Amino acid sequence: MADNNTGSNFIRNIILDDLNSKKHEKIITRFPPEPNGYLHIGHAKSIVLNFGLGDEFEGRTNLRFDDTNPSKEEVEYVESIKNDVQWLGYKWDELHFASNYFDEMYERAQLLIKKGLAYVCDLTPEEIREFRGTLTEPGKESPYRNRSVEENLEIFDKMRLGEFEDGSKVLRAKIDMSSPNINMRDPILYRISHAQHHNTGDKWCIYPMYDFAHPLEDAIEGITHSICTLEFEDHRPLYDWVVKECEMTSTPRQIEFARLNITNTVMSKRKLKMLVDEGVVDSWDDPRMPTIAGLRRRGYTPESIRNFCKEIGVAKSNSTVDAQMLEYFVREDLNSKAPRAMAVINPLKLVITNYPEDTSEMLYIENNPDNEECGKREVPFSRELYIEREDFMENPPKKYFRLFPGNEVRLKGAYFVKCNEVIKDENGEVIEIHCTYDVETKSGTGFTGRKVKGTIHWVDAKTAIPAEFRLYEPLILDNETEEDKHFLEQINPNSLSIMNGYIEPSASTAVTNDKYQLFRHGYFNVDPKYTTEDKLVFNRIVSLKSSFKF
Ligand code: ATP
Ligand code: MG
Repeated sequence: MADNNTGSNFIRNIILDDLNSKKHEKIITRFPPEPNGYLHIGHAKSIVLNFGLGDEFEGRTNLRFDDTNPSKEEVEYVESIKNDVQWLGYKWDELHFASNYFDEMYERAQLLIKKGLAYVCDLTPEEIREFRGTLTEPGKESPYRNRSVEENLEIFDKMRLGEFEDGSKVLRAKIDMSSPNINMRDPILYRISHAQHHNTGDKWCIYPMYDFAHPLEDAIEGITHSICTLEFEDHRPLYDWVVKECEMTSTPRQIEFARLNITNTVMSKRKLKMLVDEGVVDSWDDPRMPTIAGLRRRGYTPESIRNFCKEIGVAKSNSTVDAQMLEYFVREDLNSKAPRAMAVINPLKLVITNYPEDTSEMLYIENNPDNEECGKREVPFSRELYIEREDFMENPPKKYFRLFPGNEVRLKGAYFVKCNEVIKDENGEVIEIHCTYDVETKSGTGFTGRKVKGTIHWVDAKTAIPAEFRLYEPLILDNETEEDKHFLEQINPNSLSIMNGYIEPSASTAVTNDKYQLFRHGYFNVDPKYTTEDKLVFNRIVSLKSSFKF
């Protein structure tokens, strides 16, 4: 894995060149989310890239809310975004809101009008679309294209003052209706929207379009390298045009890279919002969501997400990363950090009939068989235990080495037990199994008398703590398809299973967001939303093993 911040990539090379040639003394990057939803793992890629480059080259990185679209819910999103960036481990140098630049943007638009490079157009949105032409046909000029500078300035001012209805007029750049690049065919710079803005209230009823606003925001902040996703590649000539014709003193350079896509995952705030609004998930931070908040609640660590983002690298062509790769990085991170414990998720009572009643003993079980330094912990053991229902079969197939009538297994860290009797309820369901243990076989005593093929885990029935275990499968069955209707039809009905079981008493100290490696089951996080004083709720982050290789 790369030993520097971002690994080698083409963007880093551009920056190195710019620093070596003294084009820039210092670099300034930015992460510019639109506060219209919670951040997802795709944004993490952009955060790690922008902040990583800023850190590596001792430059600066701004967090800028691209809030040029008025909408109601922005305040909650702004707070969640700040929180997520910090949780990932980054500090911004400056915090900005694009809406604070509205005055300057308005003045720059007036400048374009004065230079004969912008005009107010009264065509309807449909007409504008028709006039724009296609990839093979040039566009047609708007009949309003040749309004005088004075008239344009006057109408634009009236637009600002609220004299016109939404959609009745727009300000357009006057570039080239026959350009082979459709983005250059007199793009819209301002539209009318009589909407409340979270920051500017009702001061404005005209709002700048992304293609006009974004280059100005970058130039105002002195951003040197404006890193964005590939779909903006064809917008770059317009980006450069805006910076130049608006006579900005600083000239940011736009560089595009490929979006992150992950298998079985939808990756767009709009779609994620639909999952929340439709009640498919419990909220933006549902542990099945690919949001930073969801991954955090599931139990992912900032390190695992950063390492994943660095490893996938930065490319110029879109591709889809296997979700198992993200899992690999959290396993790798938690392997050395998470304390071990035993838990039974689907309990079946096991009674050791020859173990003395009303006694118990303490066993010392190693925390990490691969690392002695992790020490041992005390685990109580007595006559009645719980084991995993799946670890017993009355009529086992061949090569089943766990418990069945007449068979002997090792209880992890304890004794050999042999199954002698199966107790069933009136419906024929197994409710208890009776075993005998062999006191000679205690773990750690060096017993070599005979061997058993299976080792199963257990908890002591009297002292174990009841707990809820939430097991997850991918939320989306197949990969996102082209049409929206499909993704809501492809929800996995088994994405969440809730199990009630027990965990060993060492977990009595657990607080929310503590992480455990539960023997044979995987890594789990103490859920911060549903855990209460009386009830521990665990989210399975990942199972222990995967066949995934990369
Ligand atoms: P969404 O479609 O999820 O709303 P967006 O691109 O509209 O994504 P913004 O809030 O505008 O979201 O994005 C902020 C930054 O994050 C932008 O620079 C954008 O390019 C980047 N970004 C968004 N999604 C991804 C992704 N999947 N992979 C990499 N970068 C992304
Ligand atoms: Mg967006």
